[in-house]
Amino acid sequence: MNALIHIHSERERPVKELVVLSGKGGTGKTSLVASFAALAENAVLADCDVDAADLHLVAAPRIERRAFFTGGKQAAIDPSLCAGCGRCEDLCRFHAIQAMAPGDQVWAATRRVDPLACEGCGVCAWFCPAQAIQMNPAVNGEWFVSATRFGPMVHARLGAAEENSGKLVSLVRTTAKEIASERGSALVLIDGSPGVGCPVIASVTGASLALIVTEPTPSGLHDMERVAALVAHFRIPAAVCVNKWDLNEAMTGLIEENALRRGLSLAGRVRYDRLATQAQIAEKTIVEYAGDGLAAEIRALWQKLFARLAPDANRKDEVKSSVSASASAPQNRTKARWLPRC
Ligand code: SF4
Ligand code: SF4
Repeated sequence: MNALIHIHSERERPVKELVVLSGKGGTGKTSLVASFAALAENAVLADCDVDAADLHLVAAPRIERRAFFTGGKQAAIDPSLCAGCGRCEDLCRFHAIQAMAPGDQVWAATRRVDPLACEGCGVCAWFCPAQAIQMNPAVNGEWFVSATRFGPMVHARLGAAEENSGKLVSLVRTTAKEIASERGSALVLIDGSPGVGCPVIASVTGASLALIVTEPTPSGLHDMERVAALVAHFRIPAAVCVNKWDLNEAMTGLIEENALRRGLSLAGRVRYDRLATQAQIAEKTIVEYAGDGLAAEIRALWQKLFARLAPDANRKDEVKSSVSASASAPQNRTKARWLPRC
C-alpha cells in the first residue's frame, strides 16, 4: 500500500534515462538491459539498437501500435517527362540510376532509380533539364510500441540497406520518454547502439547515466576508451562494467584502472557463464532464469546503478529490499516497483 502511495507521489518527477552502450556488438549489453528490465519492473524499455535490434528475443513484445518511419528522401523519375539525356546517370556518384529496360524500344532512353542504391542526395533532381525527377519521402523502416511482461517497450526495425538510423533512434527514445511520463514511470532503460556512430550519439545525448559494457580483451579496452571519449564529449555521467571479467583478470584490472583515470566509475564485474546462453534459449532474462552466481552479480550491478540514478541515501535499504524481493519471489513482482527519488 505504501508503495502504491509512493508511486503516485513520484508521478511528477522527471524521467531518467539509463543507456547501456558498448564499443561493438556481442558484449552482452542487451542481456544486461533485459535483466535490468526484470529488476526495475516499472521502467519503459527502448531498444535503440535499431540496426540489429534483439531485445525483443527475450522481452517477447506484443505489438500494440506500429508505424512506418520515413527519415530520408528517394529520387523517382517520371518516365513520361524524361528526355533520356543521361545527365542524371552521369552525375549520380552512387550509381543508382540506370537505363530503363535495356532493349525496350519505348523505354530504352529513359532512366530509372535503384531504390536500394539511392542515397537521397537530390543532385539528379537539381540538374535534370526536364524536371522529371521528384524527391519523395522514403520509407526507411518501421517502429513499434509493444507490451512486455516488464512494461511497455518501444522498438524499431530499419529496412535493409536503409540509412537514417540516428533519426529512428531519436524517435524511439522520444516515444519511450513520452510513454514513461504518461504512465508515471521514472525510468527509461535504453539498449543503445554499439560503436560510436550517429545512432550511438542519438542514443546517448541527454541521458542521465551511461553504462559502458566491455570485455577483457585489448579490443575491449580500446572500445571502452572510444565510448568513454564519446560520453565525455556529451558530458554524460558514465560507469563501466567488464563482462566475462574472469576470462582475463589482468586485462579486467587494466580496463578498470583506465576507466578510473578517465573519471568513470566502476559499476561492477559480470562473470562468464553458460547460463547466459541457456537463459537466451529459454527466452528468459538471466535474473529470471537463475538465482545466484552470474544473476547475483547482475543484481549487484543493478543496485549500484540504481544508487547512481537515485542518489538519496535513505533509499538504499528500500533498493535492496526491492531487488531481493524481485529476485527471490517472482510472484511478488508487482510489489517490487522501480521507486526512484531522483
Ligand atoms: S536528367 Fe532528367 S531527362 Fe535526363 S535522363 Fe535523367 S531524368 Fe531523364
Ligand atoms: S538522389 Fe542522389 S543518390 Fe539518389 S539517384 Fe539522385 S543523384 Fe543518385
